[in-house]
Amino acid sequence: MICLAIESTAHTFSVALVNDKGKILSEIRDMYTSKETGIIPLEAATHHRNVRDELLKKCFDEAKINIKDIDIIAVAAGPGLPPCLLTGMELAKKLAHENKLPLIFVNHLIAHLEIGKLLTHTKDPVFILATGANTQIIAFESGKYRVFGETLDTGIGNALDKFGRAINLGFPAGPKIEELAKKGKYVDLGYVVKGMDLSFSGILTKAIDLFKRGVSKEDLCYSLQETYFSMLTEVTERAMAHVNKKEALLIGGVAANKRLIEMLNIMCKERKAKSFYVPLKYSGDQAAMIAYTGILQYKSNKKYYNNLKLNDIDINPNWRVEQVNITWL
Ligand code: AMP
Ligand code: MG
Repeated sequence: MICLAIESTAHTFSVALVNDKGKILSEIRDMYTSKETGIIPLEAATHHRNVRDELLKKCFDEAKINIKDIDIIAVAAGPGLPPCLLTGMELAKKLAHENKLPLIFVNHLIAHLEIGKLLTHTKDPVFILATGANTQIIAFESGKYRVFGETLDTGIGNALDKFGRAINLGFPAGPKIEELAKKGKYVDLGYVVKGMDLSFSGILTKAIDLFKRGVSKEDLCYSLQETYFSMLTEVTERAMAHVNKKEALLIGGVAANKRLIEMLNIMCKERKAKSFYVPLKYSGDQAAMIAYTGILQYKSNKKYYNNLKLNDIDINPNWRVEQVNITWL
């Protein structure tokens, strides 16, 4: 079985072809970037509309197959930015209609979790989902993926990007902050963990304020990382203790950060657990994860998807992981 999948929830438009052994036949992506600002949803959607046909063609060319070889189509239906989500949904529905193929609507966050497990061979981890828009500590409990802790305001990636914007680093700022942090020393920015939840925006405001008062970029990048990543590590440790799990799996674009990986490694080692992170290539947004999750969903619930009408499928911008019916675990 081969699945064609489309991802367009935020800055990246991506198309992938994956088979039911979990083999990625091809995966093509193009990311909207802007030098001065963060993501502007309508601009990102225009980018996606401009690149999507070409990416689709490239994806088939690279895998040396064509649409006739496809069994199902999967699309990331949410959560995400509505204008961006629509660009993927339009293409997915058009292809499903023209080729009379089942369309599987996939939760983007669950797809991050499932590709993470596939690529790291983890069985039942506590997930640290650290993306641009989302920050959640998630684990599978009593038949569902459940959120044990999460940000009360912005996602950790967006918080880093907003700081980057304030100090003129461009978007995305995460990698540049990581570089600058190597030369910094610690200044106090506060620390906000409430129960199992996290808050990033007050600390961000304080960092921007200190920048305006002349504290160096390097010191602020270092301190922002140390503070945010300590908060994430603390909540992760408590979630692991609470649900008694022995694996931690770091997922999302922020998983590229070596300092965050290091902190989680130390914490896990101390509690005789193991930490994993998704390889760089698949830690960010891409359609391979949508394809793989689409296959899991379809195989475990064929009758439902074979009878589903395209008109009954829509984007779901605020879709939470607890709302997804997990039929494959
Ligand atoms: P995602 O939403 O999962 O695609 O992740 C995108 C986010 O990851 C953006 O906010 C980036 O700034 C952030 N990011 C990428 N690389 C790094 C890094 N090395 N350190 C921290 N954040 C990063
Ligand atoms: Mg993502």
